[in-house]
Amino acid sequence: MNNIPPIDLALQYKTIEEEINTAVLSILASGRYIGGNPVENFERQFAAYIGVSQAISCNSGTDALYLALRALGIGAGDEVITTPFTFIATAEAISTVGATPVFVDIDAQTFNLDINQIPSVITEKTKAILPVHLFGQPVDMARLMAVAQKHNLAVIEDCAQATGASWSEMLDGTLHDRKVGSISHIGCFSFFPTKNLGAFGDGGAITTGDREIAAKVRMLKEHGSPSRYYHQEIGINSRLDALQAAILQVKLGYLETWNSQRSQVAARYQNLLAPLPGIVLPQSLPGGKSVWNQYTIRILASESKDKTSASNSRRDQVRTQMQQQGVTSMIYYPIPLHLQPVYQSLGYQPGSFPVAEQVCHEVLSLPMFPELTQEQQEQVVYALKDALA
Ligand SMILES: *Cc1c(COP(=O)(O)O)cnc(C)c1O
Repeated sequence: MNNIPPIDLALQYKTIEEEINTAVLSILASGRYIGGNPVENFERQFAAYIGVSQAISCNSGTDALYLALRALGIGAGDEVITTPFTFIATAEAISTVGATPVFVDIDAQTFNLDINQIPSVITEKTKAILPVHLFGQPVDMARLMAVAQKHNLAVIEDCAQATGASWSEMLDGTLHDRKVGSISHIGCFSFFPTKNLGAFGDGGAITTGDREIAAKVRMLKEHGSPSRYYHQEIGINSRLDALQAAILQVKLGYLETWNSQRSQVAARYQNLLAPLPGIVLPQSLPGGKSVWNQYTIRILASESKDKTSASNSRRDQVRTQMQQQGVTSMIYYPIPLHLQPVYQSLGYQPGSFPVAEQVCHEVLSLPMFPELTQEQQEQVVYALKDALA
């Protein structure tokens, strides 16, 4: 029996080793390590892949979110509506520009923000909605954009976990399949190594169809400088290295294949786990095509006390027992953002967002990566069944 990791990046490197090495060595030999053709070419290819006119690379997904908010002029006194069940970077970016994150609870089926609850938290200060396509599963963008338009709000998509995911809808009698990051005003992407399109280090990008927003993002990411040594605003330094751009160009060519392999892995899990009582499997909405950054199940709490105490839950016992069988699962995320120490000042309480709080006690992300084999998945499921028994 072998150990099964949550993700195996070294294995993926092995499958494209020669191409990556050639790309990296060509950058090393070029003597040009910042900007230039590799970065420009990657931006063009990434924009074409997402289906927008503009992609601007930057240093991380966190910077992408920060730059997007700044580009829309969002700052002190403004409110941005988002989900409490996400990685901290989503809300952190809102706080970093001086605005206030306003949370709404999530939908237990998709783990994404509950669109029905958005109108009730809109105030005169609300400037934008920041949905997260969590675990690769797209938010219902047709409904979300309708709410935003009705209330005249901007939308910034956090696509960090969903590169390649799409939302399809009927428009004028034809089916439009649009990738996340091309549906709202701005899409924010992360190329952190564990994301669907991962660099060998940090990286990120912003996508938009709006030339003015694109120009603003470019200025802000280069020290607020529309032209060299002329500084119009306080910006930051946020670059995608030429090395990472060259690597990402190679990997972008494999992304569709990898994403469909992830779908196959998800379908196999779905088959292997379907009859198991006491757990809930992830489900997609009709119209949404997930790219399965994570395969996250819920281990239903057995007693009511499990629902309120973070420790000693049934889920944690299952995780420990699976680990003893060599299977590493992960908990994304153990604490919702509204209960994090850093957000105590916002005044939320336990009970503010019951669904988000409950799923934090129940979620378990099983090993998920394109190269995961049927045999490995059977071992994961065997360990899970054993732990549940
Ligand atoms: C990874 C991630 C980010 C941040 O991306 P970095 O590149 O690590 O800065 C933001 N939001 C979500 C939902 C993420 O998963």
